[in-house]
Amino acid sequence: MDTTCRVESVPGSLVQPLETSPHLIDYVGCSQRFDQLRLESSFRHSGWTHLRERVKTGLMQAGEPPNVVERFCKCGSNAWIMQSRDNPERFKLSAFHCKHRLCLQCQHELRRIVAANLLARLDGRKVRFLTLTLRHAAGDGDGEQPSLHDNINRLYDSFTKLRRTSSWKHHVVGGVSFLEVKRTSQGWHPHLHILFDGKYFPQRELSNLWLRCTGDSYIVDIRDIPGSDGIRYITKYCTKVSTFMSDEELVQMIHSLRSRRTFTTFGTWSHWKLSTPPKTEEVWIYLYPLHDVLRAADRGETWAAEILTQLNHRPYLLPEGDFDKPPE
Ligand SMILES: [Zn+2]
Repeated sequence: MDTTCRVESVPGSLVQPLETSPHLIDYVGCSQRFDQLRLESSFRHSGWTHLRERVKTGLMQAGEPPNVVERFCKCGSNAWIMQSRDNPERFKLSAFHCKHRLCLQCQHELRRIVAANLLARLDGRKVRFLTLTLRHAAGDGDGEQPSLHDNINRLYDSFTKLRRTSSWKHHVVGGVSFLEVKRTSQGWHPHLHILFDGKYFPQRELSNLWLRCTGDSYIVDIRDIPGSDGIRYITKYCTKVSTFMSDEELVQMIHSLRSRRTFTTFGTWSHWKLSTPPKTEEVWIYLYPLHDVLRAADRGETWAAEILTQLNHRPYLLPEGDFDKPPE
């Protein structure tokens, strides 16, 4: 009987200190590896275990390629605790991140990075916050409502038309837009939340423009706010799976968001790399594999419990000045 199995190194992992190529290990090694993956994964995803399982099933049902599902499942694996070289009281966790748009943890991190980058550029400045939405479609007579995919396409096309108008170009210099998809009892409800820099844009003028671009929707919400509030607003709204969504709706959402950007910059903000983590001078060194520390804490070793307590406050540390938690 063949007593070996092949374990691939985690594709695209940020940290592969011990494994850089596929290798053979025995069954005992395999089972240890799976235990390790389960430990690491539950540490990162403890807040949404059940929902995450549903998303995983949804990805398979939606026919996502196996490598996409595999990346999603391995999110949080290969986790190492790192220590700041110059500030040994500071720890952070480094792990493989799937970056899938329906992975709650990866989306939280993305929003924190975007918020930190926006804060560095907009703090102390006044910006404008705009929400665009489409009138709820009544259906085509036989009760059939437009699909989420069609709704998002129409929202994006209308926003492109709006940005091409001379009035928009006159009032708006640059900005960023985020897509939020909501499921209500009346159906899908996609919104665009936009933060922009520019001149005062009269609400009535904007409403008329939006009606011209969409053909049926005129409701726009626009307000002047301090930059820091704008960052809080814009990073608060994101597309996420909710527990009351049916399996069918979840699959629909996965199809509709496939290969689609959920946030984008425009105008003078186009070159802003908002999703790139801000640079830091801090040097980090690999300390322990997370699973070793989790097991030591389980055995009651206080040093391990102390490190984990610190990590629970700031598990995936960003440079100074960022948010500890996604804004509520
Ligand atoms: Zn993830």
